[in-house]
Amino acid sequence: MLALRRLPQAITGVAVALLLIPALASAQGFIARMLHHPVPGGIAVVSLGSDAAGSSATYMGSPVMILRDSDEQWIAVVGLGLETRVGDAGLQVRGRQGERTLSFAVQSREYPAQHIRLKNKSHVNPDPAQVKRFEREYKEQVDAYASFRPQGPSNISLDRPVDGGRLSSRFGLRRFFNGEERNPHSGLDFAVPTGTPVKAPADGVVTIVADYFFNGKTVFIDHGQGLVTMYCHLSAFEVHKGQQVTRGQVIAKVGATGRATGPHLHWNVSLNNARIDPAIFINAYQP
Ligand SMILES: [Zn+2]
Repeated sequence: MLALRRLPQAITGVAVALLLIPALASAQGFIARMLHHPVPGGIAVVSLGSDAAGSSATYMGSPVMILRDSDEQWIAVVGLGLETRVGDAGLQVRGRQGERTLSFAVQSREYPAQHIRLKNKSHVNPDPAQVKRFEREYKEQVDAYASFRPQGPSNISLDRPVDGGRLSSRFGLRRFFNGEERNPHSGLDFAVPTGTPVKAPADGVVTIVADYFFNGKTVFIDHGQGLVTMYCHLSAFEVHKGQQVTRGQVIAKVGATGRATGPHLHWNVSLNNARIDPAIFINAYQP
């Protein structure tokens, strides 16, 4: 930022926007220490400084969450999808100082492979009608992930959505169904019996209540500022679309609907439309 002020007046507009300014001193507050894991499938916490009130930011074209941390610094909390390239990345920030691009470094993370046997062959290779159904359902979910309400979230350290339960499949596993590679595991699985109550980990608005081909019975909650959570393979719903929910409220019951080998909760967490490791938010992250 200081370097930018010293630039000759001639360098303006596009030229300035193309410069990558290293992020200010790394953030040190409570939220930054908990969330900053700048790897594919992780989160980059980028410090905006102490006088960045009213700023907005985008990453890869999506609006990004901005919070004030315990050390009084304003921070951008940037979700990094699994497809993120290792190396330098840029965050576009708009504030009182005008527009700037802050750079941050993405580090590497290795994800192990997981082999799953499915009896339902259509869950490995769906027929054309099932593919059509899946595409329609996929778009509905992509739209829900892209939601950005300016207020919220009520809390950034999330409660576990179920009591107890082993973490049975971690985020990011490269998955092979009956030997065929499919999308990596986009969430975190809790091994808990059918009927276990699922609770909202923060306040929010229910944006999807649906029965999907792969995900089975599914609920989406929009917690605000691009933080969206998804719960699938449910056996029963306790909420309806559009309902406001509060932290700790029961939203559904665990089940084994859709592409599931047994009862468990599959939980996705998304920030700025990027699916990221939910373990980060419940203090269970393993590098
Ligand atoms: Zn899962």
